[in-house]
Amino acid sequence: MNLSFLGGAGQVTGSQYLVETGSTRFLVDCGFNQGTDDRGEINRHPFAFDPGSMDFVLLTHAHLDHCGLLPRLVREGFRGKIHCTGATLDLATIVLLDSAKIQEEDARFEERRYRRNRLPGPPPGPIYTILQAEQALARFEPHAYEEPVSLSPEVAVRFLDAGHILGAASLDIALTEEGVERRLAFSGDLGRHDRPILNDPVLPARAEVAVLESTYGARTHDPWDETLANFQETIVSTLGRGGHILIPSFTIGRVQDVLYCLSEMARSGQLGGAQVFVDSPMAAESTEAFLRHQEYFDAETRKRMASGRSPFEFPGLHFTDSLEESMALNDMEEPFIVIAGAGMCSGGRIRHHLHHHLEHPQDEILIVGYQAEETLGHEIVSGAENVEIFNQPHEVRAHVTYLDGFSAHAGQNGLVDWATKVVGQGQRLFLVHGEQDSLAALSALLTDQLQAEVTVPARGDSFAV
Ligand SMILES: [Zn+2]
Ligand SMILES: [Zn+2]
Repeated sequence: MNLSFLGGAGQVTGSQYLVETGSTRFLVDCGFNQGTDDRGEINRHPFAFDPGSMDFVLLTHAHLDHCGLLPRLVREGFRGKIHCTGATLDLATIVLLDSAKIQEEDARFEERRYRRNRLPGPPPGPIYTILQAEQALARFEPHAYEEPVSLSPEVAVRFLDAGHILGAASLDIALTEEGVERRLAFSGDLGRHDRPILNDPVLPARAEVAVLESTYGARTHDPWDETLANFQETIVSTLGRGGHILIPSFTIGRVQDVLYCLSEMARSGQLGGAQVFVDSPMAAESTEAFLRHQEYFDAETRKRMASGRSPFEFPGLHFTDSLEESMALNDMEEPFIVIAGAGMCSGGRIRHHLHHHLEHPQDEILIVGYQAEETLGHEIVSGAENVEIFNQPHEVRAHVTYLDGFSAHAGQNGLVDWATKVVGQGQRLFLVHGEQDSLAALSALLTDQLQAEVTVPARGDSFAV
């Protein structure tokens, strides 16, 4: 077989891997490149293959950096099926329609800018439209975890619970070439053990060739119990001094983790009756998707649901939809908790809340997610004394707490555990989906521990394996 690393190699975003056997060609993921540098333009670069020649796509999960370019693939001639789990289909619908909407808005903005400044045209159009996202979604075919899916005479796959976000899968692929069956494993984005709502990751069978993500290849997270205790303590002490709590959050997965923690606090009286607002229409939609897919929950969460203690419906919880409802929060004196996107404060409603609360010493900015460099969130967690929001300077006088333990990615120990169990002696392991320092650290560690060939491919590299 031939394995090509067309994206998500030497970097975290833009996952795109091409597998070719005797007569079958397929992609694993086809994600958006995200970042503050010039990576955005990459999303318009021609594909390294003819989309019409691809037999099918296997999609590991609904994050934009894994599914974001699928509408372009379909627009440019792909006519096969996109296989994934049922929850991934539901969440990818939210993610892709939102992405298409943002692109249509950006394109309209550019059109006006070109016209106003009399720039030589034409302005760049949207990478894809809402209609094109819908056409891509029509090609999705959902499968249950563990179900053996035969895709061609040569290829069969099982989607295994990766424990990363709802519906996220690792792939256990059986490839038959010239009568010989071999296994190819993709970790996808790999989650962690003992996290709320989701099951622990399920490992693929031993594989001849494996591809492992490396986001946290260089470090290990704080334990969950410690994170939860810090979270509770921060909330209780802020409410105790009459402060407001702002939680910037990614809208798929992280919002639900935060609600899980808050629901128990609300029920045990630790919130003292304070209201909780989820101020993001997309977070409301993704929470509904969670409620439609309770079969993906772990045993503890299912037990809570069955006994009427849903983490997503509790006294004092509100989902604000309209901008008017969102703005009304600015006038609320009594302590409250608001969860809003964007997760790195780079856009979205959280900026309005920061604008109103950042200068209040009794308030709290509780950061529960990764903050990439050059984002407002990164400035805030790095201890900046002054930041700019809506072109206005703001002194940071609110408390700031950063909790690393909410991460949905396995730490170094989880990645090593996966590699040791999946990669056999003398087999091949490729490390992807990480920044250079993480890839280097994990590669050194695994080369030492496994009797296998460990490779860190660069974007565009191809291997006959
Ligand atoms: Zn992911
Ligand atoms: Zn990812």
